This record gives sequence, structure tokens and C-alpha cells, in this order.
Amino acid sequence: MKVLKFGGKSLANGKGIQTVVSIIEDKVRNGEKITVVLSARGNTTNDLEEILEKASKNESYLEQLEAFKKYQLSDFVGVDFTREFSILDKLFEGVSLLGDYSKRIKDQVLSQGEVLSAKLLTQILNEKNIKANFTDSRTLIITDGQFGDAQPLDKLSKKNVIHHFQKYNGTTINVVTGFIASNTKNETTTLGRNGSNYTASLLANYLEAEELQNFTHVNGIYTANPDLVSDAKKIEKLSFAEANELAYFGANILHAKTIIPLIEKDIPLRILNTFDYKNQGTLITSESSEKGIKSLSVLEDVALINLEGRGLLGKAGVDARIFRALAYKNISVSIISQGSSERGVGFIVEADKAKEAKSALEQEFEPDLHKRDVSNISIEREVSVISIIGQDLSTFHKPYNALIKNQVIPLLFNNTIAGKNVSLVVRKNQLHRALNVIHGEIFEISKKINIAIFGHGLVGGTLIDQIIQSARQIEKRKKIYLNIFSIANSKKAIFNKKGLGADWKSKIQKEGVSYTIEDIVKFANENHLENLIAIDNTASREFTNNYLGLIDNGFDLVSSNKVANTLSFEFYKQLRSALEKNQKQYLYETNVGAGLPLIDTIKLLHLSGENITRIKGVFSGSLSYLFNTFSEEERSFSEVLQEAINKGFTEPDPREDLCGNDVGRKLLILARELDLSNEFVDINIQNLIPEELRKGEATEFLEKLKDLDIIYQKVKEAQQPNHVLRYIGDLWGDLSREKGNLDVKLVSVPKSSSLGQVKGSDSIFEIYTESYGDQPIVIQGAGAGSRVTARGVFGDILRLAEKG
Ligand code: ASP
Ligand code: MG
Repeated sequence: MKVLKFGGKSLANGKGIQTVVSIIEDKVRNGEKITVVLSARGNTTNDLEEILEKASKNESYLEQLEAFKKYQLSDFVGVDFTREFSILDKLFEGVSLLGDYSKRIKDQVLSQGEVLSAKLLTQILNEKNIKANFTDSRTLIITDGQFGDAQPLDKLSKKNVIHHFQKYNGTTINVVTGFIASNTKNETTTLGRNGSNYTASLLANYLEAEELQNFTHVNGIYTANPDLVSDAKKIEKLSFAEANELAYFGANILHAKTIIPLIEKDIPLRILNTFDYKNQGTLITSESSEKGIKSLSVLEDVALINLEGRGLLGKAGVDARIFRALAYKNISVSIISQGSSERGVGFIVEADKAKEAKSALEQEFEPDLHKRDVSNISIEREVSVISIIGQDLSTFHKPYNALIKNQVIPLLFNNTIAGKNVSLVVRKNQLHRALNVIHGEIFEISKKINIAIFGHGLVGGTLIDQIIQSARQIEKRKKIYLNIFSIANSKKAIFNKKGLGADWKSKIQKEGVSYTIEDIVKFANENHLENLIAIDNTASREFTNNYLGLIDNGFDLVSSNKVANTLSFEFYKQLRSALEKNQKQYLYETNVGAGLPLIDTIKLLHLSGENITRIKGVFSGSLSYLFNTFSEEERSFSEVLQEAINKGFTEPDPREDLCGNDVGRKLLILARELDLSNEFVDINIQNLIPEELRKGEATEFLEKLKDLDIIYQKVKEAQQPNHVLRYIGDLWGDLSREKGNLDVKLVSVPKSSSLGQVKGSDSIFEIYTESYGDQPIVIQGAGAGSRVTARGVFGDILRLAEKG
């Protein structure tokens, strides 16, 4: 036989009760032998409690009582609740007269909820020609006299149950009231709130049922609350021992007293959903799974009490005093954490006990407060407890690090030695994010990286398309999911917490809204987005004003924008210390040499203690093309320049390249990588534009390109044989000092040298170091272009994603 238990929500008017009836019909049709245990319907027990409360305070309760009756009767025809209603009428009347009630009376009141429920279902089933028998558990389950939380007397109850079921076996379904019982004096008792679960497991035990099916309104036990963690998964199967761990943290179906009768007789418990009953639910048996299960549970109505004081150091009996004071007030402490120095003790109590706990402690520690041995006893209310069940300390660093990376700093944590649980106390406003971060980490679900992209020009646009195209692949290979939650230009932004797709371009045109950086931060916070990265693909000076704020709000940064690294050295340092403080990263590989792994190489060399003595090279793709071609071919300078402009190698106003500032900036960025504190003004830049052409509109300049011909023809011809022209950046001098020498200039080099051999629009970087001597490390390749730059930015994103 199977015992089926239906909870209050399953039995509510309308869809609930109808579905319960059809589940039972189904089972009967399949020839299954079943017994049914019921809760009160819908909100019945709470309603009865409220009415009782009102009656005792002499408030008017009749209206609510009428509504209650109406709910019970609903549009069921043929049910007769006269008896139950009149019992309730009398009880409430008495309470209202007396202005008070006992626990005994309360049990009598509440018990009617289950009676009404079982009576109704019996009637409905009988009307459908399913033989059913209303079974009042008060005649079967006999308890001690502790009203409100009675303990069953097993022997007696078992005898009664077996006897009853011998009488009514075969085809009749016993419809049993859950929750209620009676004491040996025949007075009504109850088994505590949610006690129907207990009734069901007692029956299952006494009758040695083959399974207990507990019908709820959820599909089973999840790895975390699916309302809070969208990736939460249903656990198909777990052991009683594992379930017991869950029970401790709240799930009432799994209350220890409820599962003990099942363990005793090895009866499987299946948690099912009335509203989706074809779903297999979660099966709990005595077999434990090989890997052990993990899940997250949350306690929300809690408060953290903190007792601080230097004077506690080394004093014996402090803990004992805390516990004694609290025990005296019947306040239980669930999580406690204490440093070995005993300078402070923090612990968790139920929220509604916090005030009482504080004053109990203030009383106990009054002398110590007076002597200032205890400096402070405080309550922190906006906290929640997350328990990671099945987590031991050997791998706890993973979820812990992920939390820190996401700016969730637990207020305290502790572990159980036997049960493999770790509990953390976090701020309530961080609960949602914390759960998702931990969940993703412990289940190795793809880590979601949430990206905001600023700027969608050539580089930015290409990057967005590259990410969208390869997101799936990367998820498969690396378990990292790149989710672009916002794309913005200087005026408008679009948002989607689930990720923007290939139609982003038309979206930004049609749906883009004006925004401030705060809106982006707010969106990320409100949607509890974790692992945040902001990408700056603008070339804007202004946008760099947002960097510090983004870092403070938990974003890592990636930028192809060079500006932030070439502002004052003061800002450079400020940015780094903000990163340090917030444990955030800032990557900008594409600032120099686009996608070439230059900055990373220099960083590593420098970090490993290798002395870099000089960095020299062709830093600009456009100027590389210009002088490589001009040196090789018998064409005028202006003709080659015009070609470079036409091919889009230069900026729209080519003077931005020719003035040398861009090369200067790149050189400065490299210098600063070596901890040199140079400023932009320290760079000696040879400007390739003659004085008289530096001012005025781009169009004017473009008309006068020929004016450059004489100058550069002369320079070309003045070279030694087999030499070529190169526009280079050169960092040299004693680089162990505060500042280095930074030159940006046009030079003539032997054609056979590595600089001389550069072709097309390639960049080349020679890194001279002490160990490598005269033979520099050479990094060469396409150092410009939107595709390679976007790839470089992409690389930085993946570096960050993999780190955390
Ligand atoms: N009706 C009771 C309650 O709400 C018992 C139960 O539902 O299990 O607590
Ligand atoms: Mg219930």
C-alpha cells in the first residue's frame, strides 16, 4: 500500500482539490492500493488561528468566520458541515467571552480544519463512486498531553491503526485527517504546525507502506530555491541522511521527526507536485548517492548578534555565559563564529528573538560592559544565512573566492565537522547574487560572465559579433558563458539581462534609451548579475571618468581605449589602487600592438624580475605602411600617403597619425608597465607634419599633401646605401630609475635589420633584456585593424573569465 499525503495548497478550492480528486481516481483505476492523509485546505489553519486571536482580544471576528465557512463550503453540493461549524461557533464564542484561550482550546479549533478537509474529500470521492471512508485520526493516533506539539504514544497508536485498517481494507480508501490526534483522556491534540507530514509517516510506518508520496506544490527538492537561482536543478534521488541535512535548514516535509518513522522501516519518500503529478519528483531512500548531494538552503528570518570586547581575551566561561543567558530565555543559537582570540563572538538567532537576546546579554554582561571589557552588543538584521549542504572545507575556497570576486563578503561563516555543511552569513541585499555565484561554482554550471560594452564602432561592433558568434562554443569548451547584458554608445544604451543577440544593431537604433553610467550599474545590481566586466571600446577621454566608479561597483575592466593609461601618472596610480582595493582587474592588451601579446609578455618579464633595458619598434600600423612602401618604391611621399588614407589605414585626419602622439602614447603605456613614472610631456616626439600644416581643417590639409614631398624625398635620399626609413618608438636609458627616456622619431636603419625587414602595415617590437643580451625578444605582426583589435579585446575578456 502507498500512503498519499496532500498539503493545504494542493487541496485549495478550484484547481487544487479537482486535481487531487483526479490523481486519486487515476490511482484507483490503475489498481493501486492507497491511503490518503490530508492537511486542512488552503489557508485554513492560519485563518482559524487569526479568528481565534481576534476572538480572544474581543475584536469582531464574525465576518471573517463567515468568509471562512463560505470558503469551506464553496460550491460543493451535498456536504454537511453543520456539526463542525457549530463546534467552531461555540469555541470562538467561549474564547471571546473569556478573553483568553488555552493551548487545549486552540488544538480543538485547529483540528476542525483537517476534519472539514477529510470530510469533504470523502464525500466527493463517494459521489464519484470511489469507495472512501472518513477517518478521524483522533481515534487512532494517541499522544501525550502536550497540546500544540504532542508526541505520539507509539504502541497504542500502532495498535489502533492496524486494527482500523484491518476493518477497512480492500477497496475502500481511508481518507485520514493529518495533524490531529488525541490524548489518553480523549482530548484533541495536534502534532505541531505542518504535522500532517508526521501523521502520514506514522501511518506509513505502522502499516509498513511501500512508499509515502507527499504531494506538494513543487516538483521536488532542488539544488537551490528556483525562485532565486534560475539554474537550480531538481534532485532526482537522495538519501535520508542527506535529506536530514536539508531538513535542519527549514524544509518541513523533511523534519527529522517526520523522516525517522520512514528510516526505521526503510520506506521510500517521494516528493511530488500535485499540479504536475506526472513528474517523478524527488525520491528519498536509505541508499546514499555515490557522489553525495549538494544543495543550497537559505534562512531568511534571522538576525546576527555581535558581542565585541577586547576584555574578553582569555577570559574563561564567556561562551557559557552567552549560552546560559540565551537558554534561560529559550532562545536558540543556530550559527556561531568566534575568533581564537575571543575578541568577538557573532551568532545567529531568529529575527523575532533578536531584541530579547540583546537585552538578555546586556543583563548578563552588565559588569563587563561597565568595565568596558565588552564594548558593544549589536544586532544586525539585514542578514541571511546560506548553507551549502554537502560542502566540506577542502573545496570551499572555490565558492568563497567566487563570492569575494563578486564583492560579496560574508559576515561570518562556519562548518559542521560531521555533516559536511558550510554556512555563511551574508547581507540580505546580496543574498540573491551570493546564491547564484555559489550555485554556479559548486555545480560547475557554466560560469556566466556579464558584459557591458561601451562603444560599437569598428572595434566594438566587431567584438560584439565575435562574442555572439562564439559564445556557444566557448560555453561547451570552457564552461564559461559570455552574456552581453548591455551595449551602449555615447548617447544610448540597450539592456537585456538574458543577453543581447545578433540583432543588437537594429535594437540600439530602435530601442536605445539615453542612459548614465549609474543606470548600467543599477541594472546589473537589480538583476543580481555576477562576474561583471565593462568593455571600453570608445576612444573617449570622457568615458575614462567612469572607470573608478565601475571598479567600485564590482566591474572588471577591459579596454582598447588608450586614454586612461596615458593621463597623468597620478591618475594611473589612483586607478591601480582602486583595482587593488576592490580586487578587480583591468586588461588592455590592445592598447599597444592590437592583438599582439605584447603587454602580457612585458608584464610577465618584469614581474619575474627580468631587467628590461630597452623597448624599440614600429608601433603604428599606418606609419609602418607609409614608410615601408615609401622606402621601397619610387613613388612620391604624398602618393603613398594618399593610398594609405584611401585604404583606411590612417585616421580620417591623417595628422593624428603623423603627429606622433599615438606612438607616443603607446610608448608611455609600455614605460609605465615597467614602473617608470613618466608623463606624456616627457616624450620627445618628432612631429612629421611641418609647422605650417598643423593648424586648420582636415580637408585643407588633405589638399596640401604634396607640400610634404620635398621634405621626405630629401630625407630618403640622404640615407646611407641599403637603408630604409622607419618611424619608431624608443624607450631607453637606465630603466631602473624613476623615469626613462622616451623618443618617437623617424630613423634610417639597415634594410637587413629586423626593423628594416618589416613589411606591409606590420608592427614590430624589440624587447631588450639583461638575460637576452644583444638579441632582443621580437614580437611582430599585424598591429592594427579592427578585426585583430577586437580579437585582442576578446582575449582579455577570456583571461578575466578564466581567472575568477
Ligand atoms: N494544517 C496544519 C498546518 O497548516 C497541518 C499541516 O498542514 O500539515 O500547520
Ligand atoms: Mg501545510
